Amino acid sequence: MQDLMIIGGGPAGLTAAIYAARAGVKPIVLESLTCGGQTITTSEIENYPAITKIEGWRFAEELRSQAEQFGTDIRMERVTGLSLRGETKVITTEKGEYEAKAVIIANGAKRRKLGCSGEEEFLGCGVSYCGVCDGNFFRGRTVCVIGGGNTALEDALYLSRICKKVYLIYRRAELRVHSVEADEVRAKENIELIFSSVPARIFGETRVEGIELRRTDGGENNQLAVDAVFVAVGLEPENAAFADCITLDAGGYILAGEDCATNVPGVYAAGDTRTKRLRQIITAASDGAIAATAAAEYIRSTGF
Ligand SMILES: Cc1cc2nc3c(=O)[nH]c(=O)nc-3n(C[C@H](O)[C@H](O)[C@H](O)COP(=O)(O)OP(=O)(O)OC[C@H]3O[C@@H](n4cnc5c(N)ncnc54)[C@H](O)[C@@H]3O)c2cc1C
Repeated sequence: MQDLMIIGGGPAGLTAAIYAARAGVKPIVLESLTCGGQTITTSEIENYPAITKIEGWRFAEELRSQAEQFGTDIRMERVTGLSLRGETKVITTEKGEYEAKAVIIANGAKRRKLGCSGEEEFLGCGVSYCGVCDGNFFRGRTVCVIGGGNTALEDALYLSRICKKVYLIYRRAELRVHSVEADEVRAKENIELIFSSVPARIFGETRVEGIELRRTDGGENNQLAVDAVFVAVGLEPENAAFADCITLDAGGYILAGEDCATNVPGVYAAGDTRTKRLRQIITAASDGAIAATAAAEYIRSTGF
């Protein structure tokens, strides 16, 4: 029987591991892809207190190593099922099964899909959900970014440094984000803003060659020749597997208060996976700290 299993090795999960270890509880982190979660796909982080600027991959690496220094056991395993109702929590992965006294769900969120024709077909052949990861394949080329939120702006700026031309395509009539990034995007010569438009179809022979846009203001549809389409239209949680026992909100996020406790005793939710206003590294880390402290108290109080 394990003390504490943490699902997800992003900022929430790894901070939870650091706090759990310091509270005398031995944590095991299960991570399906790469430690660091979404920070891996971030070019630069400039809003974490006392760190003026750091590359996303470096932040992820520091976080992983810090968690390991506190004795966290990180295992690269995807969690495929959970049985949480009893006092003993059972976590099923692709490789086996774990029993634990408490669980922290810190599985984050994934980028939302467009749902237009060509998106699935050209995935990896010009359609991407991560400008920082895949931008280099399109160095010197013409690309587009779909979306108008912070992530879309960051992607457009990053791509504008390595691509010849970047179209930023947004469904609304103007950018609603007021930020340094929004001002930078407007000022960049090789970024062209296309408003009131949504993707209708991504087309090409074997790779992306262009995108057809549908006007949302009744104007005529048009086509753009692009070598890649970067999708940044928001996040969505992946919590359907827990829906039978954990209460989710209408958007599929886990309902847990500021104490990170879910409706199931001994089960906590931390980071982007839970209902919250601001999904950022600092709020994910904060949740991780709170959830781990609560989990340690729960383990002690149950006298397992
Ligand atoms: C492009 C981009 C730029 C950003 N820039 C900033 C920024 O500058 N500043 C800032 O504060 N925030 C930024 N953010 C947001 C920030 O990265 C997230 O809010 C933060 O990473 C959330 O942390 P998390 O641990 O909750 O989730 P995540 O980072 O999503 O980590 C969750 C982890 O869980 C793993 N996982 C998921 N399902 C399973 C499973 N079934 N089994 C095992 N493991 C699983 C995932 O692989 C992932 O590693 C940015 C996000 C993006 C996408």
